[in-house]
Amino acid sequence: MDARLEAIRDTVLARNPGEAEFHQAVTEVFESLGPVHDRHPEFLEAAILERLCEPERQIIFRVPWTDDAGRVRINRGFRVEFNSALGPYKGGLRFHPSVYLGIVKFLGFEQIFKNALTGMPIGGGKGGSDFDPRGRSDAEVMRFCQSFMTELYRHIGEYTDVPAGDIGVGGREIGYLFGQYKRITNRYESGVLTGKGISWGGSLVRPEATGFGTVIFTQEMLKTRGTSFDGRRVVVSGSGNVAINAVAKAQSLGATVVACSDSSGYIVDPAGIDVALLRQVKEVDRARLKEYSVRRGGVSYVEGGSVWDVDATVALPCATQNELDGDAAAKLVRNGLLAVGEGANMPSTRDAVAVFQDAGVLFGPGKAANAGGVATSALEMQQNASRDSWSFEHTEARLTEIMVGIHHSCAATADEYGDPGNYVLGANIGGFVKVADAMLAQGLI
Ligand code: GLU
Repeated sequence: MDARLEAIRDTVLARNPGEAEFHQAVTEVFESLGPVHDRHPEFLEAAILERLCEPERQIIFRVPWTDDAGRVRINRGFRVEFNSALGPYKGGLRFHPSVYLGIVKFLGFEQIFKNALTGMPIGGGKGGSDFDPRGRSDAEVMRFCQSFMTELYRHIGEYTDVPAGDIGVGGREIGYLFGQYKRITNRYESGVLTGKGISWGGSLVRPEATGFGTVIFTQEMLKTRGTSFDGRRVVVSGSGNVAINAVAKAQSLGATVVACSDSSGYIVDPAGIDVALLRQVKEVDRARLKEYSVRRGGVSYVEGGSVWDVDATVALPCATQNELDGDAAAKLVRNGLLAVGEGANMPSTRDAVAVFQDAGVLFGPGKAANAGGVATSALEMQQNASRDSWSFEHTEARLTEIMVGIHHSCAATADEYGDPGNYVLGANIGGFVKVADAMLAQGLI
């Protein structure tokens, strides 16, 4: 890392002790930014990096609720409003027991650059709670969401901060959150949340967008080697919203997706995953992935273990941060891997990224490859602002255009900085320069 940047990075780490994921995300971005600061000393003079690493506002609050047995429960709620240089803070809410400030800050930090890459007018933010929706009744989830929004509503708004979903927050949770916001404020302010239901201000394609976008970005990378998804054997990790839609899109392009996973294990379905059954098991029945193998013949279920043991030419990590380490990456490379498209946020460890890049594997980092979700959220905001709703075809065409554009700009930036094919460099520099220019123009705030 550039010595000037390393000194700033060390200060950021010291000011934010115990936040390992935030440290990792900051370090990974800083490693790309040396050459930008050679060309733009004004960014150093204006302390752009120091300001970027300090969220504009961080909110932490108590979320009390009662479970179905009448017992009082307390969770912690977060919203980190990281950077508003390009637009209102924008980013999801994650409900998962692992959530603490370091996770929310890593996600919010990534979101700044990701949102900049989309070319849409959205800043970066993230939030969530250590609440675990798994095993909770709909009524419990509703009471939790209502309590969460009873504090959050003061901080958000169509022009201020626009939350959406992430792990543990899907259409059901967004519905309860929106209902409570509307009730407290007495405003039908559609643009305050994205990922809404289609009949009450949601956008077609938003549910599919992250997974579809990851595959579109990966397809663009494959094209640079004169190839495509057609006939490829693909492995996807996870089995949530992003994973399911990545499977669907990859298979629509002629690939066979042979495996996916959840936190208990993975399935191998050599004929190619049955997307309708996977949706039924995961989204309708809210069951574990093992249930898929019970209902479909010819499928093996491996309890525990790593889905990355399954050989593939394209890997799409769509589960969670740091799910793919250096050893798993080395095994994938030995098994003939050609490309990785990150559907999750920071799923590959820094060691894994190094293994992929050293082996010449096409590697699309999450902040570029999974930007389709938030980009379509911005399209949802656009529809809400104009009180309109677009067709599936039109919205999907816009998503495709945005993903192809992100690929193009990452590739062009990597070329410009003398490292062709390095999408990590291209995404980090491309996103950073847009935000840094806007921050400079807006003065010292
Ligand atoms: N949570 C998603 C992400 O990581 C989507 C955020 C949004 O739509 O605002 O980008």
